[in-house]
Amino acid sequence: MISTPFEYMRATSLDDALAKLGAANGEAKLIAGGHSLVPLMKLRLSEPKVLIDIARLPGLSGINAKDGAIEIGAGTVHHDVASSALLQHACPMLAEAAAEIGDPQVRNRGTLGGSLAHADPAADYPAVMLALDADILIKGARGSRTVKARDFFQGLFTVDLAADEIITAVQFKPIKAGAYAKLHQRASHFAIVGVAAALAINNKVIQGARVGLTGASSHAVRLTEVEGALTGKQISADNVESAARLAGKDLKDINSDLHASDEYRRSMIPVFTKRALIRALERA
Ligand SMILES: Cc1cc2nc3c(=O)[nH]c(=O)nc-3n(C[C@H](O)[C@H](O)[C@H](O)COP(=O)(O)OP(=O)(O)OC[C@H]3O[C@@H](n4cnc5c(N)ncnc54)[C@H](O)[C@@H]3O)c2cc1C
Repeated sequence: MISTPFEYMRATSLDDALAKLGAANGEAKLIAGGHSLVPLMKLRLSEPKVLIDIARLPGLSGINAKDGAIEIGAGTVHHDVASSALLQHACPMLAEAAAEIGDPQVRNRGTLGGSLAHADPAADYPAVMLALDADILIKGARGSRTVKARDFFQGLFTVDLAADEIITAVQFKPIKAGAYAKLHQRASHFAIVGVAAALAINNKVIQGARVGLTGASSHAVRLTEVEGALTGKQISADNVESAARLAGKDLKDINSDLHASDEYRRSMIPVFTKRALIRALERA
């Protein structure tokens, strides 16, 4: 199928993109990498009257350290996240998740902001953003606001973002003791199950843990049962094993599709949780 007709315009600045969004009265869609939006348009699941191209907006991409935090522009493509020396050193979990997205074409065009706004239930970044407790920076005609990742992902393809708003960046404190482990679909590389684990460790005791899961339910979620079981525990294989065994126990609706049944996904959640935790501990 081909898409319904649309008007195409390229924004010259963030303010220009916001003005164009406002003028279109809810009939426009931003396009960044186009790797999620264009397939939807071809299936006529999305029929915008106007496309506003933000792919080359000045200032919307880049990875920078700032006051002990890292900020990544929403227009940054997956390849740049994967190959960032700063992220590989200070926050390897995020670089390794980006390196596992799709194929080279997808990684060279697809953007962080596009992935977060689209919120595919099998996308990789949402789990990592939850584990990092990242802030999502948003700009709209009424001003700027910041949303915690845990409040941003709300349901199937549903996020806290209005039609006239743009994600500008994400910000987080880098975590070295973190890892992302994923069981991927062979063809697309989307996650059947993807687990991001971030640990805070002091004197061989786990002081805190954040574990994000993607691929298994309508949207990425925190595995709070695993986090609770790890917190305050000595680092040991037994403690990791027993915490990982709890992973997904509280999840009611597990996805089931042609790639994996709900039963299979449920059994893989602890397996990939354990892998992420072990790798995070190795980096501590
Ligand atoms: C073959 C294939 C394999 C893939 N494999 C994976 C995978 O393994 N893991 C994975 O996570 N993803 C995968 N993807 C998805 C890919 O990562 C997409 O690039 C990404 O989800 C969307 O980014 P984009 O820049 O292409 O967004 P677009 O397609 O341009 O836009 C997607 C949506 O986000 C909105 N949007 C874009 N930018 C912004 C912004 N800054 N602010 C607000 N709204 C915005 C658009 O309006 C649209 O609604 C795959 C895609 C393909 C085609």
